[in-house]
Amino acid sequence: MIRLTNLLNFILQKHKSYLYVIIFALYIHSKLPNVGTTIFTTMSGLANQYNAINLGQGFPDYQMSEELMNKVNEVMHKGWNQYVPMQGYMPLRESIAEKAEFLYSTRINPDTQITITPGGTYAIYTALTTVLQPGDEVIVFEPAYDSYIPNIEINGAVPVLIDLKFPEYKIDWQEVKRKVTPKTRMIMLNSPHNPTGAVLGEEDIQQLWAIVKDTNIFILSDEVYEHLIFDNIPHQSILRYPDLLERSFVCFSFGKTYNCTGWKLGYCISSPETMAEFRKVHQFNCFSCHTPSQVALAEYLKKKEDYLSLGGIMQQKRDYFVDLMKSTKFDMLSSHGSYFICAQYNRISDEGDKDFAVRITKEFGVATIPVSSFYKAGTDNKVVRFCFSKKNETLEAAAEKFCNL
Ligand code: PMP
Ligand code: GLN
Repeated sequence: MIRLTNLLNFILQKHKSYLYVIIFALYIHSKLPNVGTTIFTTMSGLANQYNAINLGQGFPDYQMSEELMNKVNEVMHKGWNQYVPMQGYMPLRESIAEKAEFLYSTRINPDTQITITPGGTYAIYTALTTVLQPGDEVIVFEPAYDSYIPNIEINGAVPVLIDLKFPEYKIDWQEVKRKVTPKTRMIMLNSPHNPTGAVLGEEDIQQLWAIVKDTNIFILSDEVYEHLIFDNIPHQSILRYPDLLERSFVCFSFGKTYNCTGWKLGYCISSPETMAEFRKVHQFNCFSCHTPSQVALAEYLKKKEDYLSLGGIMQQKRDYFVDLMKSTKFDMLSSHGSYFICAQYNRISDEGDKDFAVRITKEFGVATIPVSSFYKAGTDNKVVRFCFSKKNETLEAAAEKFCNL
C-alpha cells in the first residue's frame, strides 16, 4: 500500500516546479486581510438593485454647473488633452493659492506647496504613505471615513482609535493626550466631519497645537467639505495656522465643491519640505491628473460667489430635510457641516444598523449608510447616515417612505 507521505514525496519530486508555480502564482498574502467591499459600494448596489432612493453614498442627484461643463468641453476642443506637469497645471495651483489667501489669510507657494491629485482620497493615501513607517502609530477619531484605517494598515502602521463623544461627536483632548506615545507619527482630523456633520472649533485647534507643538507628530487634515459648513460657523482650516501647516497635509476635493464627485480631482497643501516628499510618491503612482478639468477649473475657481454660496444652499437642504423627518420616528442628531446628517432609529427597531439599513432599502425603498461601518470594531449606536445633497423632491419622496416605518 502506498503511504500518503510517499505519494506526496513522489509528486513533489516529479512535479516540483509545477507545484511551485501553482502555490506562488495563486497565493497573495493579503495586505488588507480584514477588508471587504466598502459600504458605499454595497449600499449603492443595493439601491440600484431595489430601485430605491439613494440617500446612502454621498453625491448630489442634481447637475453640476453648466458653465463649468462647457468650459471643459471648450478646452478639450482647444487641444488641452496632453499631460500637464506632475505637480498640476500651474494656473490652477495659482488660483488655489489666491483662494487660500482670500479665505484663510495665508500665503501658499503654488510652486512648492500645492499638488493636484486624482481626488481627496488619493491625497490622503499619498500623505500617509509619504510619512508612515511600519510600527508608527496614527491617531484616528471614530467614526472615521472608511479609507483612513486601511490606508494606515497597508503602510504597516497602527491606527490608535479614539471615539468621538456620542451624540455630539466631539473630540476628548484629554484622551488624545493620554494616547500619544513616542511612536505617534500622525493625528488625522476631518472637519466638517463625515459621517456626523460635526465641525471643529477654535478651541480644538488650540488643544491640538498644545499636544503637537514640541513633538514630531504630523497632522492630516481632511477638509474636503470646507465649504459645506452651516450656522455661520467659520471653517477652522489648518491653512489659517501657519505653525500647524508646517507639519500638516491638508486635503481637498473639487468633487464636493463643484458637485462633480465623478471627476475625482482634488489637491493637497503642505510645507515645501513635506510636499517634496509627497511628490516623490505621487509621481510614481498617478504622475499627473486629468488635464481639461484642471484647465477649466483654473478660471472657474476665481468665481468666489460659486463656492461662497454653497454653505447656504446646503444649510437650506439640511433644514428642509430635518423638517420633513419630523413626521417620522427617526431622532435626528445635529449636523453643522458636510452633506450628511445622522439619526437614531431606536423608536423604530432594535435591529443592528447594518440589518436595518439593508432591510429599509429592500422593503421601504430608501438606502442609507449604517454608521457602524465607520468603526473598526463595528460599534453600533443604532445610527444611520443620510446624504441630503439631493433635489427637494428626492428628499420629500424619501421622507414619505420613512413615514411608513
Ligand atoms: N474624505 C472624506 C471625509 C470624504 O467624505 C470624501 C468623499 N468621498 C473624501 C475624503 C474624498 O473625496 P474624493 O476622493 O471623492 O475627492
Ligand atoms: N464620500 C462618499 C461618502 O461618504 C463616498 C465615497 C466613496 O464611495 N468612496 O458617501
